[in-house]
Amino acid sequence: MEKSIRKDPYEAPDYYLLDELLTDEHKLIRSTTRDWVKKEVSPIIEDFAQRAEFPKQLIKGLGEIGAFGPTIPIEYGGAGLDYTAYGIIMQEIERGDSGIRSTASVQGSLVMYPIYAYGTEQQRKKYLPKLATGELMGCFGLTEPDHGSNPGGMTTNIKDMGSHYLLNGAKMWISNAPFADIAVVWAKDEAGKIRGLIVERGMKGFSTPETQGKWSLRASATGELVFDNVEIPKENIFPDITGLKGPLGCLNQARYGIAWGALGVAMDCYDTALRYSKERIQFGRPIAGFQLQQKKLAEMITEITKGQLLVWRLGVLKSQNRASVEQISMAKRNSVEVAIEIARNARQMLGGMGITGDYSIMRHMMNLESVVTYEGTHDIHLLITGMDITGINAFK
Ligand SMILES: Cc1cc2nc3c(=O)[nH]c(=O)nc-3n(C[C@H](O)[C@H](O)[C@H](O)COP(=O)(O)OP(=O)(O)OC[C@H]3O[C@@H](n4cnc5c(N)ncnc54)[C@H](O)[C@@H]3O)c2cc1C
Repeated sequence: MEKSIRKDPYEAPDYYLLDELLTDEHKLIRSTTRDWVKKEVSPIIEDFAQRAEFPKQLIKGLGEIGAFGPTIPIEYGGAGLDYTAYGIIMQEIERGDSGIRSTASVQGSLVMYPIYAYGTEQQRKKYLPKLATGELMGCFGLTEPDHGSNPGGMTTNIKDMGSHYLLNGAKMWISNAPFADIAVVWAKDEAGKIRGLIVERGMKGFSTPETQGKWSLRASATGELVFDNVEIPKENIFPDITGLKGPLGCLNQARYGIAWGALGVAMDCYDTALRYSKERIQFGRPIAGFQLQQKKLAEMITEITKGQLLVWRLGVLKSQNRASVEQISMAKRNSVEVAIEIARNARQMLGGMGITGDYSIMRHMMNLESVVTYEGTHDIHLLITGMDITGINAFK
């Protein structure tokens, strides 16, 4: 039995009238996605998170609202939208839950994008239209048990056997792995070059054990990818892309989406805390009237507004193909940091109620502990900015 249906009275803050910077199409996409999240995600997400279960019934709807590969051209089943639209979709979905946004990011940025950007025409036609609707689901295998921040050290490998490749190794912390139909996997060839290939569920020697016991992203399924002499047909390899630039190109797409998405979480926490503080009476008046609570709210809206301006500008640059890796890195790091700080303060503003599943804040707070670590950790992104401004690499 599902628990009581949660109300979702969310209203997005727009302190600097940033709506004026969006097109009518952007606003339509936003309202469609927001309505879908309020109707399909908010009422059920808390129960699924509590049970540590991915709500598979959302897959079809995510496909229908264009959340899978929004920037992929229409001829391959994508929505052919610009990057601001993509960011807005990620913001609205993550406002509902970071785990659901993770599923959309992996599908669009880490599976569809590499197949579109690095794949053969045959691979594009075979996989992209079905991935866009959610008929096929994908995952992205880069991280290994001994190689996280340093993926270049990976040991998963392929050997050319003439008629096929033989894949061996293991990947860890892979979102969507337990139910994915295909996996985009990065492995080293005999010359030590990183190559990308598509592994299909059902191939002999390929298994995807689920990771149990997470306190974060509980509504997202995470698992391992284990390859034991898996025979990969030659047509499943990406023909030309070699080296780390392959997987990093995908991560750049996903990080861009997180920069918008994490701000969605910040906006949800702020909106919840603002509403609650105006209704909660202590010492005979709403707690919103106390200076200490106003300080928290004023700082939240200031940081949200700065973050909104940053991602809006990044969206314009990205649509013009001018956004640098380092700019995306800065925005991902900033949005997640802002969201974590706001979630923690918002939770305190709700007092004891803040730790319950009656409100979204505690779930958001725990989710952000994954978001700050995956797609490049907080510290690594800081070092990317450091390297960019000094010209000196401090992490190798
Ligand atoms: C829920 C979840 C889902 C994920 N989904 C995916 C997925 O779908 N696909 C995928 O491939 N991966 C995925 N990841 C993996 C994620 O990208 C890695 O966890 C991340 O890259 C960090 O690697 P690590 O956990 O091995 O930490 P480590 O690399 O061991 O880092 C540990 C700490 O050391 C710090 N550190 C490391 N190197 C340096 C340095 N040079 N200088 C300073 N500090 C340093 C890091 O910042 C961090 O704080 C997921 C992770 C989580 C938690």
